[in-house]
Amino acid sequence: MQTRESRIKLGISSCLLGNKVRYDGQHKYDSWLVEELGPYVEYVPVCPEVECGLPVPREAMRLVGNAEHPKLITIQSGKDITPQMNSWCEGRIKELAKHNLCGFVFKAKSPSSGMERVKVYPEKGGAAAKTGIGIFARAFMQAFPLLPVEEEGRLHDPILRENFIERIFIWHRWLEMTKGQYKAGDIVDFHTRHKYLLMAHSPVHYRSMGKLVAEVCRYDRDAFRTDYQQQLAEAIRKPATRAKHQNVMLHILGYFKQELSAEEKAELIELIDSYKAGLLPLIVPITLINHYVRKYDKPYLKEQHYLNPHPSELKLRNSV
Ligand code: SF4
Repeated sequence: MQTRESRIKLGISSCLLGNKVRYDGQHKYDSWLVEELGPYVEYVPVCPEVECGLPVPREAMRLVGNAEHPKLITIQSGKDITPQMNSWCEGRIKELAKHNLCGFVFKAKSPSSGMERVKVYPEKGGAAAKTGIGIFARAFMQAFPLLPVEEEGRLHDPILRENFIERIFIWHRWLEMTKGQYKAGDIVDFHTRHKYLLMAHSPVHYRSMGKLVAEVCRYDRDAFRTDYQQQLAEAIRKPATRAKHQNVMLHILGYFKQELSAEEKAELIELIDSYKAGLLPLIVPITLINHYVRKYDKPYLKEQHYLNPHPSELKLRNSV
């Protein structure tokens, strides 16, 4: 488990932690987020509706009007909460910028916190379209466009969950590295250790980021950081697929040309192919690769975050 100083800071809709802040005085406790992921992160809870000054319980509200610029309107009394919410958002976003967050988990469907497909009602009545974004979620994503964001419901999907957690761990390592007096060598080291993780997400980005790193000494420090982290965020946003994982693992197999017998190589290739075909979870070939990395002492591979991207206790690769 990480030490307190290096804990990943993750913003979260407050009701997901079990806080009774919803309009009906209830919560939306999410046991996986609290009990499983909780020990590895430091949550920064945000409840836009309570923090902008509304009481608990309160009148329910919804988005009304244009999906791009909706108003936040109470359902019974028709009160427009938008100015109050917008002005609170401005200050809270500035305050959140000081936290060095590595991502945010939003409560789905909420007119304040929903990240996508939130219902938006026409001004003159009628059926809602699921085209909206919660007022706070939109402001957050506009202010921090590179940060990984997800909704709690989507995190019940093992593939989306693994991808999101991998991204927040990568982002955390990046922030940790760049917060101090880092040198060009630290950048090269970061890029090298993430080689196979980046290839599993986006080989194209891995190559273009490599070109950037090769030029790091010629760059202005801030300009480099801006360019590299933009590409890093884009790369890891692309989902790692079975085909890309297969490609990476076959590359890694090349490090064992001398040590493995023909039967051992055939066995590992069979596991990798079975994974690609969807017959085995990723953890199976990865476990055998890790075994060979330890057995044959491969320092370069030992440092690859690809082989241990997040705590094994989270069991994220057991079902993808
Ligand atoms: S969904 Fe957002 S606004 Fe609603 S109770 Fe949860 S944190 Fe508060």
